[in-house]
Amino acid sequence: MAYQMDRPLRVAVVGAGPAGIYAADALVGSDLPVTVDVYDRLPAPYGLVRYGVAPDHPKIQSISEKLRLVLERPELRFFGNVRVGEDLALDDMRRLYDAVLFSTGIPGHRDLGVAGEELPGCQPAADFVSWYNGHPDALPARPLESERVAVIGAGNVALDVARMLVTHADDLASTDVPDAVLAALRTNKVTDVYVVGRRGPAYAKFTAPELRELPELVDVDLIVDPDDMVLDEPSQQLVDTNRKVRTNVNLFTEWSKRPPTGASRRLHLLFWRKLKDVAGSDDVSAIRFERAQPGSAHFGEIETIEVQSVFAAIGYEGQPLPGLPFDPASGTVPHTAGRVIDMPGLYVAGWVKRGPIGVIGNNKADAVETVRSLLADAESLPPAASPDPAAVTALLESRHVPYVTWNDWLRLDAHELSRGESQGRTRSKINDRTEMLGICRPV
Ligand SMILES: Cc1cc2nc3c(=O)[nH]c(=O)nc-3n(C[C@H](O)[C@H](O)[C@H](O)COP(=O)(O)OP(=O)(O)OC[C@H]3O[C@@H](n4cnc5c(N)ncnc54)[C@H](O)[C@@H]3O)c2cc1C
Repeated sequence: MAYQMDRPLRVAVVGAGPAGIYAADALVGSDLPVTVDVYDRLPAPYGLVRYGVAPDHPKIQSISEKLRLVLERPELRFFGNVRVGEDLALDDMRRLYDAVLFSTGIPGHRDLGVAGEELPGCQPAADFVSWYNGHPDALPARPLESERVAVIGAGNVALDVARMLVTHADDLASTDVPDAVLAALRTNKVTDVYVVGRRGPAYAKFTAPELRELPELVDVDLIVDPDDMVLDEPSQQLVDTNRKVRTNVNLFTEWSKRPPTGASRRLHLLFWRKLKDVAGSDDVSAIRFERAQPGSAHFGEIETIEVQSVFAAIGYEGQPLPGLPFDPASGTVPHTAGRVIDMPGLYVAGWVKRGPIGVIGNNKADAVETVRSLLADAESLPPAASPDPAAVTALLESRHVPYVTWNDWLRLDAHELSRGESQGRTRSKINDRTEMLGICRPV
């Protein structure tokens, strides 16, 4: 049966990160007449492309230029600063749209699960990422007073955090970090950053392009303990059979042979260390590990490293969305090819669908799969009771929700770009929500 409604299919996409925008693109590019409203709880679009990707990765940040082209399509409307689940309930969404696609990402972080984690100097890496990227909900800028910092985890987020800590502020001065963040980075007293992996070097989740940047850091010595480079049999098998693992291990081996140059900052990559606890009375004073004997499954010898701050970069964790089913084991919404289980008309894409894995590009095929499911269901979807696009703005206005339109966002975008230009930078991000809204919606 062909699509038979006498009006375009009305779809809401909740979350203007890459998954949501790729889904919107696939929807309006389909053969069916579809109009899409894209929501975000923040005044700015682009999700983790704006608030996750490190500021010293402008090429990756520039993916937002491609995403922008999608949001400019006439069949789309952008509603920023609208929290779906609070400002608009799921029932509202069902009334306004034939289908609702959630692409809300994964907001939570994983705890370390050790004693001392509650000490003030121990924080989720996600908080630091949000801070340096100017997320409006991040804690305010503060001086970086620790000389020695541990980053627990062996993935790219740990590397981003470590790089942002050891990079001298002058080398970040051309990036888009908010002014207050740049000022705080200028007070950074760090000398040593320890990135700590529980397992051996063959199991590290770092990717080669990110690793290859490390030796390029100015006035930073990269230190790998040659004792950590002993490979047990399973590690050796991985090295022999997996090219990516081999590349990583070759890089670590090469770095383990380099003598330090006397740089003022050091980035240490440590392996085979299982975190035992975070020590300190009022604040962090050290981390303690059980050290594995490479080549043996046993952890034993306790090692202490004095640090004043700890960042936990061991992954992100999903949280339930109001009214939607949730699988606590995977931290995602249970679905079949993007269709939320037992909830006709509701769909998921991106990290909320498959968990916090993969790079930006992986969200495209994922979103396309979901949109294929949605379009295949189009003729049998329960039709919206209030499909008039004006019903959305009327509802938001009746609830006094200060929503941000696409043109409002463009005003903020232009402001950030021109402020950056006047400072010789790509952009200077505004991180205060009230200020953002004031620029978006001048009175
Ligand atoms: C720190 C970090 C660095 C990364 N760096 C890179 C990198 O360099 N290169 C790379 O390829 N990948 C990188 N990634 C991975 C990449 O960011 C993800 O693959 C991608 O962002 C996931 O897309 P998403 O749309 O599912 O989620 P998100 O990007 O998180 O977007 C979700 C959006 O939903 C919005 N939202 C949430 N709840 C609501 C609600 N209730 N109502 C309305 N809106 C809501 C959020 O505000 C957000 O804008 C990084 C990830 C992290 C965490």
